[in-house]
Amino acid sequence: MIAQNKIFLITGGAGFIGSALIKHIINTTNHSVINIDKLSYSGNLQSLESIETNERYIFEQADICNGDIMLKIIQKYQPDIVMHLAAESHVDRSIDEPIDFIQNNIIGTFNLLEKTKHYWQLLKGEKKDNFRFLYVSTDEVYGDLDGKNSFFTEESQYKPSSPYSASKASSDHLVRAWHRTYNLPVMITHCSNNYGPFQFPEKLIPHIILNAIKGNEIPVYGNGKQIRDWLYVDDHVHALMIVALNANLGETYDIGGHNEIQNIEVVNKVCSILDSLVPEYLNGLTTFSELITYVKDRPGHDLRYAIDSRKIRKDLGWKPLEDFDSGIQKTVEWYLNNMIWSENIQNGEYKLGRLGVGLK
Ligand code: NAD
Repeated sequence: MIAQNKIFLITGGAGFIGSALIKHIINTTNHSVINIDKLSYSGNLQSLESIETNERYIFEQADICNGDIMLKIIQKYQPDIVMHLAAESHVDRSIDEPIDFIQNNIIGTFNLLEKTKHYWQLLKGEKKDNFRFLYVSTDEVYGDLDGKNSFFTEESQYKPSSPYSASKASSDHLVRAWHRTYNLPVMITHCSNNYGPFQFPEKLIPHIILNAIKGNEIPVYGNGKQIRDWLYVDDHVHALMIVALNANLGETYDIGGHNEIQNIEVVNKVCSILDSLVPEYLNGLTTFSELITYVKDRPGHDLRYAIDSRKIRKDLGWKPLEDFDSGIQKTVEWYLNNMIWSENIQNGEYKLGRLGVGLK
């Protein structure tokens, strides 16, 4: 019989998705969480304030690239499930500084796999049989789609376009190899673009909101017709929990919301929500859309991502609860009601810049 109260070790738990995952586990289950995060520019403990004093939550500031420390932490807390989210995650930054992505995403994952393997091989009985390692990857490992009717599936070829997606694809291969070679009990997920509260303001949706209400230009890459499949972060979190607790070993699942939308439509939708919620910030404009400025396209910019998520729906019964209209409304309202969270970030190094503007 599997123990009901598990110990989750989550890497990257101070980031956007990791913090949503940890809050979900602490608020809705009896499991415990060890959060390992080095607190890079996108790691933010303020995203976890609502649960930080919970006795089932522990934070360890550590870099997954540091093998000695990772092994000590893993041995100290004896996790049942490792969910690996720590990564450099922004495509623009990967174009500028690819070395950080090789180091954190590839070497970091290798290191975590090695230390986890060492720990797991010494486990015994049910603790060993029930141990799981879930690697949280991205649909970007598949490159892009040109036809309107094609979708990524778990069988799609790997064709990453950016240093970011190539580093995630490399980690996928490492994770799968550690399963085939050492039998490490792994699962891999590939998710589409997430959005929701607590996302670092350089990503598209918070970037639009925060620039718009300051009356700044809203930079849009190229012609803005790139298509992304958007998924509300809590729907991703539910999928990760279902996979971590129920999937068969070695399985891969693609997770998407069937919300395929052009970037420019996303921008216009956010602007129109802002028009109705905060007209007082318009400052003489008729609509926030007047702030849209097209900038030179990102090099290697993928045109279309779309996910066929039938496997996780059919095998594990997952389905998203939010559609894009409900999720984006909630998200815009959250940023407006929690300005202090993003103001605190902008009081540090990040000032709402985006590399695309520099590439103009
Ligand atoms: P994020 O940038 O908000 O968070 C990443 C976290 O990892 C940060 O808290 C950072 O401090 C931490 N981190 C980075 N390198 C580390 C290291 N060497 N050691 C310890 N901690 C480290 O990213 P996110 O959007 O929350 O994404 C989380 C994961 O999900 C990533 O692996 C990403 O590739 C994947 N993913 C993201 C999306 C998306 O749309 N955001 C979609 C699919 C998959």
